[in-house]
Amino acid sequence: MTTTIRTRFAPSPTGYLHLGGARTALFSWAFARHHQGVFVLRIEDTDLERSTPEAVEAILKGMDWLGMQTDEGPFYQMQRNARHKEAIAQLLESGHAYYCYSSPEEVEAMREKARGLGLKPRYDGTWRPEAGKTLPTIPTDRQPVIRFKTPQSGVTSWEDMVKGRITIANDELDDLIIARADGTPTYNFCVVVDDWDMAITHVIRGDDHVNNTPRQIVILEALGAQVPVYGHVPMILGPDGEKLSKRHGAVSILDYDLQGYLPEAMVNYLARLGWSHGNDEIFSVEQFIEWFDAKNLSRSASQWDPKKLNWVNAHYIKQRSNADLAALVAPRLEALGADPSATDLAAVMDLLKGRAETLNDLAQGALMFCSAFQAAPTELQAEVLTDSAKALLADFAQRAAALTTWDTPTLSATIKETLSAHNAKMPQLGIPLRVAVTGQKQTPAIDAVLALLGKDTVLTRLQSHL
Ligand code: GLU
Repeated sequence: MTTTIRTRFAPSPTGYLHLGGARTALFSWAFARHHQGVFVLRIEDTDLERSTPEAVEAILKGMDWLGMQTDEGPFYQMQRNARHKEAIAQLLESGHAYYCYSSPEEVEAMREKARGLGLKPRYDGTWRPEAGKTLPTIPTDRQPVIRFKTPQSGVTSWEDMVKGRITIANDELDDLIIARADGTPTYNFCVVVDDWDMAITHVIRGDDHVNNTPRQIVILEALGAQVPVYGHVPMILGPDGEKLSKRHGAVSILDYDLQGYLPEAMVNYLARLGWSHGNDEIFSVEQFIEWFDAKNLSRSASQWDPKKLNWVNAHYIKQRSNADLAALVAPRLEALGADPSATDLAAVMDLLKGRAETLNDLAQGALMFCSAFQAAPTELQAEVLTDSAKALLADFAQRAAALTTWDTPTLSATIKETLSAHNAKMPQLGIPLRVAVTGQKQTPAIDAVLALLGKDTVLTRLQSHL
């Protein structure tokens, strides 16, 4: 029988879902999907001071937006407190953990002393029970912490899915506090018990956790738990080579929704940060899942590249139907004070989507079709709407008024007729038409713009300039 692959995403809800977290989640999710396994979501909310319900909400929304459905969870670590305490009792019982009555000041003094001797600062093992050792008298005025009795010899070693074999000498590891003086279990311990109880087979996480892994492995072993396979993904750097942070712009995944990125573009782009499949840059989520066997994870940090993200987004915008885009852009137009129902928004999308990088670009471009007309600035009018230009515009207006069909091919033909009647070139009419009718010098193809604006609007605006 083969074991079901079980992965998890275990964010601490101390902030929004940032790009690094989303990318880690995506890898865990895709790995589970690739193996028809189970993807678990666990909210690590034991840091009461820094965890907030808003952050939980933002994480859930972000995952939902990216389309990462969870099979189990969200589990909340805080709600598993009783179970964590039970596991601590198990370790005390089996002699793998002990009460330590050293005060924080005493521990600091031990560390200071070690530092002074040029050694790694650490707890000196005062309360660590050993065969034949007499422990100090238990002070009556103090609640003890509980420490894990880390093996002092040998090594802890694992084959990291990303980094290859990593080996740490056990004497490098301190006797970790697994429960505080008030009895609350500590971070690394909760992670261990939860990974065990949730039968996690593969832990994919950021490489800022590499130092925690040997500590977690020794505890898992002491509990008699199966040790999962670990994979530590390198961080994402900003375009300047520094660790990605707020300075580099939007780092919450939901900000990208606000800025007009499509979730499928985000997934495609994030998947390529630290993972590759040959030279493939554009792939569907199904292909990603099919290919993601965690073999091609990069050992080095990846770099955030906003230009490439825009390129990927532009690709997915072109893939979407006009109706889909219209539905996504309508609320953005409303937010800009426009009335999307005033135009055939799907047709506007068709006109604009070839050149838009974001949904917000589409909304900006669509504004002229569904918001109050803003005449061109006077200087621009003076520069473009010269007497000769007006003569062309007047002729065009006359021909257009006689049209019984108002569509792009007819308008294109009418523009050409006007030009040849005056022996003029396209810009001589195209630019004045744009400025007079849209108030702007640059627009998409003017015949299509006129068709979408409608006959009445076009003629009224032309008349106002003649
Ligand atoms: N809760 C940890 C974090 O948000 C992740 C723990 C883990 O993946 O083991 O950084």
